[in-house]
Amino acid sequence: MFRYAFRGVCMTANELRRKYIEFFKGKGHAELRGAPLVPENDPTVLFTTAGMHPLVPYLLGEPHPLGKRLVDCQKCVRTGDIEEVGDAVHLTFFEMLGNWSLGDYFKREAIDFSFEFLTSGEWLGLDLERLAVSVFAGDDDAPFDEEAFEAWRSHGVPEERIARLGKRHNWWGPAGKTGPCGPDTEMFYWTGKGAAPKEFDPDNPLWVEIWNDVFMQYNKTDDGSFEPLKQRNVDTGMGLERVTAILQGKESCYDTELFQPIFAALDDVRGISASDGARTSEERVVADHLRASVFIMADGVVPGNVDQPYVLRRLLRHAMLKGRNLGVSGAFLVPIARSVVGAYSEAYPEMEAAADSIYEEIEREEAQFARTLEKGVKEFEKCVAAIPEHVRNKVISGRNAFKLFDTYGLPLELTVDLASEKGFSVDVEGFKKAYKKHQEKSREGAAGKFKGGLADDSEKTSALHTATHLLHEALRRVLGPHVAQKGSNITAERLRFDFSHPAKMTPEEIAQVEAMVNAEIAKDHAVVCEEMSKEEALASGAIGLFVDKYGGRVKVYSIGDFSKEICGGPHAERVGGLGRFKIKKEESVSRGVRRVKAVLE
Ligand code: ATP
Ligand code: MG
Repeated sequence: MFRYAFRGVCMTANELRRKYIEFFKGKGHAELRGAPLVPENDPTVLFTTAGMHPLVPYLLGEPHPLGKRLVDCQKCVRTGDIEEVGDAVHLTFFEMLGNWSLGDYFKREAIDFSFEFLTSGEWLGLDLERLAVSVFAGDDDAPFDEEAFEAWRSHGVPEERIARLGKRHNWWGPAGKTGPCGPDTEMFYWTGKGAAPKEFDPDNPLWVEIWNDVFMQYNKTDDGSFEPLKQRNVDTGMGLERVTAILQGKESCYDTELFQPIFAALDDVRGISASDGARTSEERVVADHLRASVFIMADGVVPGNVDQPYVLRRLLRHAMLKGRNLGVSGAFLVPIARSVVGAYSEAYPEMEAAADSIYEEIEREEAQFARTLEKGVKEFEKCVAAIPEHVRNKVISGRNAFKLFDTYGLPLELTVDLASEKGFSVDVEGFKKAYKKHQEKSREGAAGKFKGGLADDSEKTSALHTATHLLHEALRRVLGPHVAQKGSNITAERLRFDFSHPAKMTPEEIAQVEAMVNAEIAKDHAVVCEEMSKEEALASGAIGLFVDKYGGRVKVYSIGDFSKEICGGPHAERVGGLGRFKIKKEESVSRGVRRVKAVLE
């Protein structure tokens, strides 16, 4: 394997994770445990996409129990990057190292920390000759980020290596909306073979982005103006896999020890001996998708037809199809999943505990998809048979190709393959049109789901958060204490709550739950928030998901003597004004998990 010249301190991903935390702890940061991959209460995304994501309430001004300087390693999934998976640096699942200042230090110190960690021989010792950065160029809304520019200059970064870029690259904030926002500065490393070009060119993919420091310093107001924020925050994110590869002098994230056991397992199921050349894009996709799937499943998701379960299903199925292309016959995903668990059990010990059920679900999904494919292929044969023998342009119509995809799960690439075996072609443009039409129809519901951003904390959302607590408790009282939250998603219009329960709720049970929630609303309890240790919270009988989230200190919201739940908020102050609670829908998400959608009228 080619190694390019580098001067960094060679280390494993586990070492890098530890070093990052240690460095920032040394600078007065408290260590947080990363949050789960499935966000608790954010309607805008299916998965945690960045380290800042679980910290949104604190970036908006709520005091954090652990203080103003925080550091962690956060598991992230970016479905928006799936198209790019296979290149050297984009993974579906990756780990983001991050440090935060909540109204404490700002730009200068943040850049000083980044620079020291990257270049000091005591830490990463990366070569300044291969480093470049970008800063916000300024526009009509906000000025050139001179402070960031000067900070980098003072550390000896030459002017040609400091790109001044516009909002599209160096600005963070909810697009088009009001709220906190600001410029950022990004750090890049030259991964080409020879010396780095004198001038930094952000469009050259050999300059790989490794770290991003965001400076929240403005508030975008209703009239579109940008006013200075009272609490200025720093939010940073560094890619663990990218930096590990660079420190090891590897060409891509896939060449690090994080992926080697996964490729070894793949070689094994293919019955080939280890190859030491670069892995093909197909091999990379299988490894990436299995890795992402295992992490998603370790956080409690099982394959299904909507939301996170659907993304998981697509990842597993895509991996299966790629496996087919690689010549694997029969089931092969479980041994690869085992290698993922093996590779990560040191950093994520909880993975072991979930391992057996993960393998079981993967096996089930694989068998089910094999059957689906079989049906899809039969359906394909029917489409072919329907085209008369004498037709000269033998084309599977876009509409049929889409139907095979949508109804029978037959991916376009497979339809194209099958068609060409028979001397047919597929109207790919027509397929795309049908697909687009379908997407437009479903876009409303899915708007923004894959994008990051600040959660909506309007009054309506707070009211629905509070109603969710009432619902959770009412479900436990009506259905039994086995009911546990599996997910929650709140918009300004409705709440959605997923919970464990083995059967469909009867109309009587639904009516009972509604009546119980409305009775508590009528009592107009105050909503009381207390901060306590995790142990105290558990001892007080509080329910709720992510008990470990704040590294020991938790917030417990009580609603009269009816509900007591660990949560990050925001909530209504009293329940009297919530309105009338109504369940609009009860459905299955996956085996053993039900979903309720409800509104306040
Ligand atoms: P890029 O432009 O390379 O896609 P980005 O601008 O999307 O990166 P950020 O959102 O700023 O990245 O995320 C912070 C850091 O997380 C990046 O500097 C990078 O090191 C890492 N990162 C982002 N996306 C991925 C990914 N898909 N796979 C691996 N690491 C990633
Ligand atoms: Mg990106």
